[in-house]
Amino acid sequence: MDRISILGVQFDAITKTEAVQHAMANIRQGRKGYVVTPNSEIVYMARSDAQLKKLLNAASLVLPDGIGVVHAAKILNKPLKEKVAGIEFAADLIAEMAKEGRSLFLFGAKPGVAEKAAENLKKKHPGLVITGCRDGYFKDDAEAIKDINAAGHSDVILVCLGAPKQEFFMHTHLNELNGTLLCGLGGSLDVYAGIVERAPDFYVDHGLEWFYRLKKEPWRAKRMTALPKFLLTVMKSKITGKEQ
Ligand code: UDP
Repeated sequence: MDRISILGVQFDAITKTEAVQHAMANIRQGRKGYVVTPNSEIVYMARSDAQLKKLLNAASLVLPDGIGVVHAAKILNKPLKEKVAGIEFAADLIAEMAKEGRSLFLFGAKPGVAEKAAENLKKKHPGLVITGCRDGYFKDDAEAIKDINAAGHSDVILVCLGAPKQEFFMHTHLNELNGTLLCGLGGSLDVYAGIVERAPDFYVDHGLEWFYRLKKEPWRAKRMTALPKFLLTVMKSKITGKEQ
């Protein structure tokens, strides 16, 4: 599998379908690992956080979530095959898991959200086994790990604590958690629960999902200033040939 470096973060140049196949193979073989879906904001953050960069690159799958990362790859003449939004990857993965009666644990979001998401997912995919749910607000990690493991083994654990908290959690606790594949998916449980709507297709298809989110959640404006800074840094790295 080709990996393409964007400011030192090594992205897998694969389609969403290939990513799902890869994840299913890991699940069938019981190969432990975690999936990250960094957007430009996280890649920009990883520039000045060596530990974050290291743990992103240690993931089984590094999927380009967001149009900023896809543009960056084009600027660097190292095109990625396509944007792979974490939430869409997970939706397809869950559909495949359901066909084989695979098990899923939902971890993250505010109390009650994961349960609602579980209900909706179970309705849509009757073959899916939901081992349990746990909200994402806890005093210490050990408490959350205990609750997750009490559900027994899960083929997949969705870890939805927001970035980069979820990436640090997955990397630190991979071996303690009784699950094969951990997937860091930000606000996806809120969407599966029907609490937050995803942007309409028009915005998604035209690379304008960020604009829709900004309209709905204006407090994101500060975080989003990372996008132009990120693209400028990518252009600079192309000119200088340096990754930083
Ligand atoms: N969250 C959580 N624990 C925390 C902080 C956040 O479970 O300590 C949840 C929050 O409720 C939301 C998700 O993590 O469901 C973050 O969503 P967001 O859309 O901000 O994710 P990102 O943009 O980072 O992918």
